[in-house]
Amino acid sequence: MRQKIVAGNWKCNTTLQEGIELAKAVDAVVAKEAASDVVVVVGTPFTHITKVVETVNTERIGVAAQNCAAEASGAFTGEVSAEMIKSTGAEYVILGHSERREYYAETSEILNKKVALALANGLTPIYCCGEALDIREAGTHNEFVVNQLEETVFQLSAEDFKKIVIAYEPIWAIGTGKTATSDQAQDMHANIRAAITAKFGEEVAEGTSILYGGSCKPSNAKELFANKDVDGGLIGGASLKAEDFIGIINGF
Ligand code: PGA
Repeated sequence: MRQKIVAGNWKCNTTLQEGIELAKAVDAVVAKEAASDVVVVVGTPFTHITKVVETVNTERIGVAAQNCAAEASGAFTGEVSAEMIKSTGAEYVILGHSERREYYAETSEILNKKVALALANGLTPIYCCGEALDIREAGTHNEFVVNQLEETVFQLSAEDFKKIVIAYEPIWAIGTGKTATSDQAQDMHANIRAAITAKFGEEVAEGTSILYGGSCKPSNAKELFANKDVDGGLIGGASLKAEDFIGIINGF
């Protein structure tokens, strides 16, 4: 049985005070309403991580960073290492988000270093993949996404691959209000799972949680999560309001 996971990605939003308030609100609704078999994660800005770890019940809610350095430590001004993140009590790190790939030129080579450091420090990478609109329209999205995985996390050993979570996020659906249809999500998730099966075997593929991300909200979560290969969501905009976030969690 693979884990059901709903992870929030706050992106570059909230002051520290607002983040603490949001964490408190999420903690309260999750304690009261969330099914115990859903793993809940909040991905906060670096500045908030320590406080959010203190604020939420970490037995129930995992805390994620949204990035980590591609180097272990040293003279890399402004960078935050996987070891530092782990030392706060956070357990997850979102890696390979399309915004990082696009705006900060994160290549497969850089992402491979980040994934390796995250794993070496005991963090669970939530590894994002997904195609832009032109690729979807050209009909090459399945190959494109598998290629993104082949260049990166498919290079891991099966033992390490088992420790990661995959998030499929079609770029054309992120923050646009345009969600992939339930069928589009299921088709891509099945495509990804088939590629994992081909690479690592059925047992690993069946155990890998594959999350959907891109304008997921309470009104569409149920339909998306009902698909057999959709194991949860990576939630941007709708994770900034506790009532929306719990609405999505309760989509299971
Ligand atoms: P969105 O973002 O839910 O605001 O579309 C998802 C993401 O980028 O993780």
